Amino acid sequence: MGTTTTIEDAALGEELATRLLALTAIPSVSRNEKALCDWLEARLRAVAGVAVQRTGDNLIATLPALAGRPRVVLCGHLDTVPENQNLPPRREGDLIHGLGTSDLKSGLAVLWKLLEELASGLAAGRTAGLDPARLVCDPAFVFYAREEIAFAESGLLEVARDWPGLQEAKFAVCVEPTSNAVELGCLGTMHAELTVRGKAAHAARPWLGVNAIHAALPLLQRVAARAERRWSPPGRSEIEYREVMSITGIRGGKAKNVVPDECVMNLNFRFAPDRTPDDARAQVNALAEGIAEVAFKDLAPAGRVASGNPWCDRLVALAGVARAKQAWTDVGRFTAMGLDAVSCGPGAPELAHQQAEHASIRKMVESLHLFRRLVTNRTN
Ligand SMILES: [Zn+2]
Repeated sequence: MGTTTTIEDAALGEELATRLLALTAIPSVSRNEKALCDWLEARLRAVAGVAVQRTGDNLIATLPALAGRPRVVLCGHLDTVPENQNLPPRREGDLIHGLGTSDLKSGLAVLWKLLEELASGLAAGRTAGLDPARLVCDPAFVFYAREEIAFAESGLLEVARDWPGLQEAKFAVCVEPTSNAVELGCLGTMHAELTVRGKAAHAARPWLGVNAIHAALPLLQRVAARAERRWSPPGRSEIEYREVMSITGIRGGKAKNVVPDECVMNLNFRFAPDRTPDDARAQVNALAEGIAEVAFKDLAPAGRVASGNPWCDRLVALAGVARAKQAWTDVGRFTAMGLDAVSCGPGAPELAHQQAEHASIRKMVESLHLFRRLVTNRTN
């Protein structure tokens, strides 16, 4: 059995590597996903038994033969962050190097392969990898645009608007890089612009004005001194989120010899899953009270910890590793849509958005096995 698995895995690894190289060779920086979307759409439409719907540069692929079973959405974004001299992709042993390999085209390669296995299994009655009689759900595959930019620009909004099937889902998996661990929930994120007002004066006679940068100091001190808050879901101390706040930008001053009349800071608040957006705003308002005006710029809600959802519990049991998502992902968006979701994909989270980004072929094979087990009642 061990030998058979090894031979099968080696073949799977080669196939997944070829798919990842092809997906990575087509650049797809945010808002420029069309070429990759066209290319993948053509390949998905060529698979017998797969129904493909396109909206904008987003694809939804389903298997009509499985309609009526509980729907599980497996999704990944098509876009990458801007190029950083890390294209074209190249292979080096077990690794594929290149922009978007970890975040998250290695996940796309696995989903694409799984979809084809399911389709051919359904057509043939059985394949080596998957027995359709053992399928326990109706997996739907979503490939979408513009995840790496503003919350309000995501292609998932078009998918939600144009595909009613999303609302029927019992569970969703985002194949974000997690090294195949299940990452539960996600932090929310908010940007607030904090403006401290003063009064301009000649720097030789500062008593005639009010220095806005000096006046901002108590607020900077409050933010810097704010203790990080740790939060775990009840009874799950091993799943721990660190709620943090940082000033990520500051500007003020019109000339070197003028007392500044304005100081503007950007505050980034990464809040734990137990906070609502209103609660997060209230935290920032309280902090700035009496010192600065607050303008909220961008807010993405936190993701619910989906423990207790049977599909989530099943994936955690299969993966064997569950931990907190110490960042924002579309799990937060799904939560806002009323849908339970987790992050779980073959890429390495520490390599996302790095020039040295790469993905492991072995991890892709592991991911494929994990998703095969999720959608069937195979035990091996
Ligand atoms: Zn990503």
